Amino acid sequence: MADSRENQTTSGSSMTEAFPGDAVLDVLIVGAGFAGLYALHKVRDQMGLTVRAFDIASDVGGTWYWNRYPGARCDIESIHYSYSFSDELQQEWEWSEKFAAQPEILRYLNHVADRFDLRRDIQFNTRITSMVWSEQQKHWQVGFEDGASISARFIISGAGNLSVPKTPEFQGIDDFQGEVYLTGNWPHTPVDFAGKRVGIVGTGSTGIQAISAIAKEAGSLTVFQRTPNYATPIGNGPADPQEISEVKANYPAIREASRNHFLGVPYSDVQPSALAVTADERRATFDNRWDRGGFRLFIDSYQDILVNKDANDTISDYIRERIHERVNDPAVAELLAPKGYAYGTKRPPLETNYYEVYNQDNVTLVDVRRAPIDSVTRTGVKTSEGEYEFDVLILATGFDAMTGPLMALGIVGRNGRTLQEKWAHGPQTYLGISVSEFPNLFLITGPQSPSVLYNMPLAIEDHVDFATDAIQYLRDRNLDAIEPDETSEAQWVQHANELAAATLLPGTDSWYMGANIPGKPRKCLVYLGGAPTYRKICADVVEGGYEGFVLDGAKVPATAN
Ligand code: FAD
Ligand code: NAP
Repeated sequence: MADSRENQTTSGSSMTEAFPGDAVLDVLIVGAGFAGLYALHKVRDQMGLTVRAFDIASDVGGTWYWNRYPGARCDIESIHYSYSFSDELQQEWEWSEKFAAQPEILRYLNHVADRFDLRRDIQFNTRITSMVWSEQQKHWQVGFEDGASISARFIISGAGNLSVPKTPEFQGIDDFQGEVYLTGNWPHTPVDFAGKRVGIVGTGSTGIQAISAIAKEAGSLTVFQRTPNYATPIGNGPADPQEISEVKANYPAIREASRNHFLGVPYSDVQPSALAVTADERRATFDNRWDRGGFRLFIDSYQDILVNKDANDTISDYIRERIHERVNDPAVAELLAPKGYAYGTKRPPLETNYYEVYNQDNVTLVDVRRAPIDSVTRTGVKTSEGEYEFDVLILATGFDAMTGPLMALGIVGRNGRTLQEKWAHGPQTYLGISVSEFPNLFLITGPQSPSVLYNMPLAIEDHVDFATDAIQYLRDRNLDAIEPDETSEAQWVQHANELAAATLLPGTDSWYMGANIPGKPRKCLVYLGGAPTYRKICADVVEGGYEGFVLDGAKVPATAN
């Protein structure tokens, strides 16, 4: 089994060499995905600072570089799941589908890199392995896997939320004689499934997309499902030229509406309560959102489905019923119908013909909740009830989400304090973007920010703007360091946890709660107050002269401004 990420060391002439050893970068950027690319453009081209970005990957794209599995596509419409920072960019780019597939999103990010001439300041094939704060010099010393190092005054981490695949936990995985693929580190050349016996573990958003695509090709496909999911129709299709031209004519207003919406999409049909209407009215609303697709059922039906169990039951029952309508064998349908947890408390997967796949003769569903996977053998998978032989085994088993990529950076803050120590019982951040004892470090879409519950390109732009504004604020005042004050941080952590506790999320084992990784603290990793509220809080903090932060050792009081 290969490393969960390409393990190439820095090769050729590296920028760490090209950049004079004793010079200190103004800003170092981790990653060249949506976050790293925008941060680089902003810092270099708009602020005129010295900056370099680094990525383990051999090219730009982040998520869309790594996740090349068949069926991979976005779950927020591409006209919204895209950058808003350049009107020229959003006017010139043409999406071919409503929800673009991975190759098209990767082409888009390559276009962005070319259009803004970003590659010359990105060093690829380079893994950051340590970041140590020097209190004396007020900068970070950043170390790479090949032993090189570089210093920078500020770090903007665009290391991603879903960029470290979960380490395969199946005994014997290295002995398997067939092909093994991790969806989050998929090969760059096409994988041929024709006539092959394929096994896949995992039925999250990734598994559901991959299963729907691979079932069309594979000789046989065996799906190992532990927890069935509430997948609902994506409603994809070719981009509608009329809709596109309307959007392009109104992009500023549409982006504004998106930023004023909980999830960062310009949906506007949500109703107050699923319990305040008759069963027929509710059914009509659910049918309407189901038919229109995307996250409308989840986020644009009733406002109380994530907070009220009775309201949630109405939508969970509805989805179960729709699943039964689509699967011919009632026993298979029953196995596919989620039970025992509330809809929306795991990220809801969006699908095209997913349930119909189980009506195909070449597809078999195996319940590994009842009969867990015991091991991977030389020839296949052994569960407590039987053995299955494969030519190809696919692991769609998820990620060490949110904190995993940050923990892997080897971050050491003031007084030798490691991020591992600091976050041993769960993440502690201020606004989900900064951490006390770790100065001049900005976590783009970090834990306890809306991040994955907000249209990510917009969440990223907001956070990069917050970070760069803070850097500019310091520069304008000849200040060297910014970090949150411990009390403000503790209050933010408490606030984020209280918001989570008021929802149904903590009741479900999900990656939102860190529950998918053995031993990970069970803490909600996402801010649940919604993007508009969050954005207002951040704006007030900035307005108050970085309220709750400490600037060069001086606390900015809550009453400043
Ligand atoms: P990433 O794209 O994850 O990029 C981080 C980069 O940092 C990676 O290339 C990684 O190699 C690099 N890196 C990490 N650690 C190091 C290190 N130590 N040294 C050097 N480089 C490092 N969000 C949505 O809002 N809508 C969607 O439809 C959607 N679809 C998704 C589909 C999939 C399959 C997945 C996995 C996620 C999806 N997401 C979606 C979330 C997605 O991750 C974000 O939308 C967005 O792409 C994140 O961009 P980013 O730049 O923050 O991080
Ligand atoms: P995931 O949601 O964590 O799903 C992982 C799957 O693997 C689950 O079904 C899980 O079962 C199963 N699994 C893990 N370990 C297992 C084990 N030891 N034995 C049996 N089953 C095991 O991960 P993901 O599907 O990669 O999705 C992660 C996130 O990425 C999504 O939630 C979404 O935010 C993003 N994403 C988005 C899209 C999109 O549509 N745009 C596509 C892919 C990913 P349990 O549930 O029982 O743990």
